[in-house]
Amino acid sequence: MKQKEYQSKQIMPGIWVLYGFSEECCIYVVEGERKVALIDNGMGTGDLHRAVEKLAPGKPIVAINTHCHFDHSAGNFQFPEVYMHPACYPDQDETESTPCPREVEYEDLPRYDTKRIPVHEGDVFDLGGVTLEVVETPGHTPGCICLLDRTHRVLFGGDMIGSNAHNIWMLRSLPWVTFSTVSMECYLRSLRKVEKLGDAYDGFLGGHDACVLGKEYLTELIRMAESIIDGTAKPYHPEMPSPPGQPPVVCWKLDGENVPTAILYQDEVIFDRK
Ligand SMILES: [Zn+2]
Repeated sequence: MKQKEYQSKQIMPGIWVLYGFSEECCIYVVEGERKVALIDNGMGTGDLHRAVEKLAPGKPIVAINTHCHFDHSAGNFQFPEVYMHPACYPDQDETESTPCPREVEYEDLPRYDTKRIPVHEGDVFDLGGVTLEVVETPGHTPGCICLLDRTHRVLFGGDMIGSNAHNIWMLRSLPWVTFSTVSMECYLRSLRKVEKLGDAYDGFLGGHDACVLGKEYLTELIRMAESIIDGTAKPYHPEMPSPPGQPPVVCWKLDGENVPTAILYQDEVIFDRK
């Protein structure tokens, strides 16, 4: 069977998104003069090297994960090394391959014993004329990072920023994935940290749905997180089903306002653990 191909869409000169497979996150390609960065890699179902080569021929790929969720990182096996925050793998050996969470036909794709290379606050990927700076932003998961591109004046937010059509998930766990062991208070600190960097970017590229989000979107997220913490939040979607054996899930939007996203959370994750 012929391998399905990724399609690409240019967001702006030097930045593309790859798509074409279901359930995937946004897979961003950022081209510099010497290297090309691949920010997240989706479910890994297609040939990522071939897809990047079409856009930025002959340039080495720097593979980075914004966080560990499998819809962002299951394609890690296609790369000999992937950069991610160490909180993504606190209990695992650094050289352990990322396990594939489900059965997928990978056909003839190369498979590496992927080495995880830790990144921390302030680390810089120099692609040649374009840099990506690591901003630690725990919240959605403990190991979430954002990447600041001062050249294109965008901040890649992963699921920490979400998107118009993709809610912010702040849940302790669901049966099929572990989310956050950090709190809404911690998430709010991360949002404010990103807000403080606002002079360096004009908008966000979120982890799902490739469109540039304006700064007003961040302002709304901050207001939502503040409302949840100060107790003024009321459930937007009270019939949201709770996962079996898990605390109830609450979905919150600002009352009566046209906020494009929502925060899903469980009460037990609101406050820092003392
Ligand atoms: Zn996620």
